[in-house]
Amino acid sequence: MEWTSLTDLREKFLSYFESKGHHRFKSFSLVPDGDKSLLLINSGMAPLKKFFTGEATPPKKRATSCQKCIRTPDIDNVGKTARHGTFFEMLGNFSFGDYFKREAIQFAWEFCTKVIELPVDKLWISVYEGDDEAADIWVNEIGVAPERIVRLGKEDNFWEHGTGPCGPCSEIYFDRGPEKGCGRPDCHVGCDCDRYVEFWNLVFSQFDSDGKGNYAPLKQKNIDTGMGLERLACIMQGVDNLFEVDTIKNITNRICEISGHKYGEDEKADVSLRIITDHMRSSVFMISDGIIASNEGRGYVLRRLLRRAARHGRLLGIDRLFLADVAETVINENKKAYPELEERKELIYKVITTEEESFSRTIDQGLQILDEMTAQAENNMLSGKDAFMLYDTFGFPLDLTREILSERGMNIDEEEFTRLMADQRDRARKARKDMNDAWAGEGNIFKDVPATKFVGYELDACDATVAAMSGDGLSEGEQGIIALDKTPFYAESGGQVGDHGIISNNGGEFAVEDVKKNEDGVYMHMGRVISGKFATGDIVKAEIDVIRRNAIRRNHTATHLLQAALRKVLGSHVQQAGSMVDDRELRFDFTHFSAMTPVEKQQVEDIVNGYILSALPVTTREMPADEAKATGAMALFGEKYGDIVRVVSAGSEKAGNVSVELCGGTHVTNTSNVGLFKIVSESSVASGVRRIVAVTGSGVINLLNSYKSAAENAADILKAAGIDDLERRASQVMSEMKEKEREIEKLRAQIASSQADDIIKSAKDIGGFKFIASAVSDITPDAARSMCDKIKSDYKNSVVIIASVSGGKVTFASACGSQAVEMGAHAGNIVKKAAMAAGGNGGGRPDSAMAGGKDASKVQQALIAAEEALRETSKA
Ligand code: ATP
Ligand code: MG
Repeated sequence: MEWTSLTDLREKFLSYFESKGHHRFKSFSLVPDGDKSLLLINSGMAPLKKFFTGEATPPKKRATSCQKCIRTPDIDNVGKTARHGTFFEMLGNFSFGDYFKREAIQFAWEFCTKVIELPVDKLWISVYEGDDEAADIWVNEIGVAPERIVRLGKEDNFWEHGTGPCGPCSEIYFDRGPEKGCGRPDCHVGCDCDRYVEFWNLVFSQFDSDGKGNYAPLKQKNIDTGMGLERLACIMQGVDNLFEVDTIKNITNRICEISGHKYGEDEKADVSLRIITDHMRSSVFMISDGIIASNEGRGYVLRRLLRRAARHGRLLGIDRLFLADVAETVINENKKAYPELEERKELIYKVITTEEESFSRTIDQGLQILDEMTAQAENNMLSGKDAFMLYDTFGFPLDLTREILSERGMNIDEEEFTRLMADQRDRARKARKDMNDAWAGEGNIFKDVPATKFVGYELDACDATVAAMSGDGLSEGEQGIIALDKTPFYAESGGQVGDHGIISNNGGEFAVEDVKKNEDGVYMHMGRVISGKFATGDIVKAEIDVIRRNAIRRNHTATHLLQAALRKVLGSHVQQAGSMVDDRELRFDFTHFSAMTPVEKQQVEDIVNGYILSALPVTTREMPADEAKATGAMALFGEKYGDIVRVVSAGSEKAGNVSVELCGGTHVTNTSNVGLFKIVSESSVASGVRRIVAVTGSGVINLLNSYKSAAENAADILKAAGIDDLERRASQVMSEMKEKEREIEKLRAQIASSQADDIIKSAKDIGGFKFIASAVSDITPDAARSMCDKIKSDYKNSVVIIASVSGGKVTFASACGSQAVEMGAHAGNIVKKAAMAAGGNGGGRPDSAMAGGKDASKVQQALIAAEEALRETSKA
């Protein structure tokens, strides 16, 4: 046996099995694809299940792979036993109903003893106690000494997972010598200690279990084997422990460098070094497969691993962010075999550092509080309330608290903790429901809240007090609704969308994503807490996104100018029938009975831009409704207005008012602020209602830029000399194309006529008719018809049928000359008989007809049927 690197071992294994006819699979992602029964891939066979069950067909019936695996159930062993990691690579060979026990055992033995030359006298074999067949192969065919075969029970050597395929296994062990063992007199293969290392497990799946103890033999017997690459490397490299294997050692060394510890000097520190090494291997591979730290499922596994690694860093005295540095070594050691690590390294560092930062922000504080809590704990038991507080406030996962406490010989009241967790979940659910109800105008969470004072006509920001909110309070990441006593945020109404912006308190930010008003005039700011916490009574600053609001203002004022222009161009029947104004565009629906002509659209656009360029002041005034009506302000038909209304006018003393409307929206103060106006489209929404979509300000620039780049691309495609040349070039290309079409037509006619001349030679005389029947492939039905027409006009007594075959289908064209028709021939009848013989139908006029058949292989029969139809006619 020779020292072999982990990388070389991997390759030796895969190429050995390739040489035995196995398909080499690349490692599949750690995230199972379409297998809900598994959180993370934990063995080589897991991603291949569909081939074992027969659900999918493998590329070959034999396969081999080196699969990345995560086993979180082994987490507590990590660092403590020599042979467990949460991350490891599993080598395997698989047979999907191809070879079985005999070959599987032979391959394994040949690989162990011939390829990597493990010393036979160190190898032990276990078989399932009831599997005489396997024992027999090992002893009598392979030649393993019978005393080296150990029979183990179901728990160790029978692979079974609920119902379905299952079977006995056989494991190969390496004896590392008595000095590595537990020293107990009964230490043997299968003992929990590190003397006999199981490194390869051969699973013979041969039964179908019904889960009730009945095992029916399987028709398709499968082989699935798994060998831990790191464990094999330990053996080949003569090291004690999988953390001392070449590539892995370099990671531990990096942590030693960072922490100033030396490996092998202090057992407690070594455990921490190994835990960090292992957890960072897992984390790096998980992130590269798209997993991000969170509080659920795979994301939680990752969070737990990262936080555990960070905490063991503290135990080693590391007081800075260091996990990304360790990740760098993990990536460097593995990127050859797993290039995705290098490709995604920036993401990997980012996810790790973000998590480490957020954890370190709270861990010191949390640990201090935990110390205080444990000092007061009774009976060595931390209350569930305390554990929950650590979880809720300091982000301590329960496992972490449990682990820290177990180091101090203490427990947690987990029952109480679980109850508090459930309560919190209920509260969160209720808060979500309250929020959805309020947003939908239902429920009563904002019923007793006084109406909000809107200050957004004059101000973009103001100080305010939180009057009410969905839920008891909102913390980081949570979605919710906040109501304030006063606000600069516009709430969606009159077609204008709600504002966006930020509500901030001391240290916290809530991003407002939409705003609505309830029936009682309470402004509901919907959004999400970006940082910090929010509670009712908080003094806050409410600040809108001014850039977005300005874009909305431009579009809203432009809507008024548009309405005025439409009435000028189209007439005073134009009434607003709906509108929508946001920061990107405006949509205006109005009554009008026909599509606008290009000239009308241009006129409207010109008038609106004229108003803009005249820089007319836009003013708003509140006045009694009657007075407003007297000014001729346009109101929406059927809309209810209060006694006092807001009137928005655009105009000057000199020009008079160009627009006066009742409107609660927000506007620019001068039309020139609108910048520019451009219609994007004009279309119909309902009968008598048209819709204009338009843009203003920078929206116009964006639109023009997109037109420009489309024109430039078109110029490129047409090989024009730039946009200015586009029109000339496009009409040139179009006339070239017409010219070519004419040429093609001419050529088609020539071909048809020369084919017709050929066909004519095969004419038969049938009762005075000149009968011509022919099948031609690769011509269009139109060409067949023009051939028929040519023959018909050349020979007055002709009866012609041409079958054109293409794509398994056949089309028949038939024609009869004028004399033939007089003699009783009927093209429609002839073509019908032919089509029916080819599984179709059809018919037509006596002098010309077409029909289709579905079965092109019946063409000859069809033409014979046509001939018979004509013979019938001539007899009659
Ligand atoms: P053990 O009893 O030692 O935990 P196992 O019975 O769980 O091993 P299998 O499920 O048979 O192991 O997996 C096949 C092979 O994968 C094992 O023979 C071993 O080489 C390797 N392996 C399993 N778990 C781990 C682990 N946590 N770390 C490294 N290698 C492992
Ligand atoms: Mg195990």
